[in-house]
Amino acid sequence: DLQLSTRVQAIKPSPTLAVTNKAAELKAAGQDIIGLGAGEPDFDTPDHIKEAAIEAIRNGQTKYTAVDGTPALKKAIIAKFKRDNGLDYEPNQVLVSSGGKQSFFNLALATLNPGDEAIIPAPYWVSYPDMVLVAEGKPVIIETSADTRFKITPEQLENAITDRTRLFVINSPSNPSGMAYSMEELQAIGEVLKKHPNIMVATDDMYEPILWTGKPFCNILNATPELYDRTFVLNGVSKAYSMTGWRIGYAAGPAKVIGAMKKIQSQSTSNPASISQAAAQAALDGDQACVGEMVKAFRERHDYLVKALNELPGVECLEGDGTFYVFPSFQGAIEKTPNVSDDVEMAEVLLKGAGVALVPGSAFGCPGHMRLSFATSMDVLKEAVTRLKKALS
Ligand code: PLP
Repeated sequence: DLQLSTRVQAIKPSPTLAVTNKAAELKAAGQDIIGLGAGEPDFDTPDHIKEAAIEAIRNGQTKYTAVDGTPALKKAIIAKFKRDNGLDYEPNQVLVSSGGKQSFFNLALATLNPGDEAIIPAPYWVSYPDMVLVAEGKPVIIETSADTRFKITPEQLENAITDRTRLFVINSPSNPSGMAYSMEELQAIGEVLKKHPNIMVATDDMYEPILWTGKPFCNILNATPELYDRTFVLNGVSKAYSMTGWRIGYAAGPAKVIGAMKKIQSQSTSNPASISQAAAQAALDGDQACVGEMVKAFRERHDYLVKALNELPGVECLEGDGTFYVFPSFQGAIEKTPNVSDDVEMAEVLLKGAGVALVPGSAFGCPGHMRLSFATSMDVLKEAVTRLKKALS
């Protein structure tokens, strides 16, 4: 019998990718499926970014680069942090990786020992707990509900902390809830963290510009600058610039840990693709108007979808602050539908019966809800709502 490590047996495949694959399978088999499961913008990568990549190929930027990223891209990232976030970093505090996913993976591997606890608020991005498990750490989940707009309170954080807590993860605006923490809320959380100097903080800012609170984006470091020496800012170009396939993410933080993450990357994947790095540099240094246009479209779809979902029987949806997801409760619908007892079964019924693919909330540690991605055209969204209405009525 071929042996598998206990490490790999502790984790599951990404449930969001599973839904996307399932929908693709049914589609390939000839079924008419609307996919609202995907975690990527439907827009094409802007032309000036593509041109920079083509230029890089022509210029022969087709070889290994420095493991931690080209000096030019790192310069663009440092300038971005300064310009958009008011944060100062030196080159040895920045690591470019093959997507935001690898940034967090490197961080978990570089900071956690077996049994170390990582606090993760739910609903969470599906990959945090599993990546902590690969690192042989222990995910400690803080549950939230619509009552607090899916955000944790400082008291909840305080109660979750033990002497084994090593890492606290915060993602705002959040995949899947679409909610963003305010400056005041982050300050209150920062006050708790200030009392526990051994805890490192990861702020996942992947959806930074996709925000419509009317207030500027802020993260925990903006709220509590005292945490600078133990906070990692994770970001990337995947969502903001519709560049999911290019695989570029980046992390900034204390040089000691960034150096350790770089060492791990040097022994696993080495540098991210040289051509993608040139494209990412163009994205960060270039005109940001393309981002604003995409955000405008996301917001229009969000407004439509929230209203439409709230008209469905047994569905309740809060307005989100950003991202391209909404996270409505389907609890009423679950209770009303025969032979359905939870969100996973509900998602199956909606996929097979209505041809609409969405991701059950349990995948994000928050059962009773569904994540719908509105990274798709208004026409497709309207058709999805028509189908959901028919299935739920
Ligand atoms: N962080 C969050 C919250 C995400 O939703 C995602 C993608 O779904 C990522 C990080 C990783 O993005 P990527 O690895 O595609 O750059």
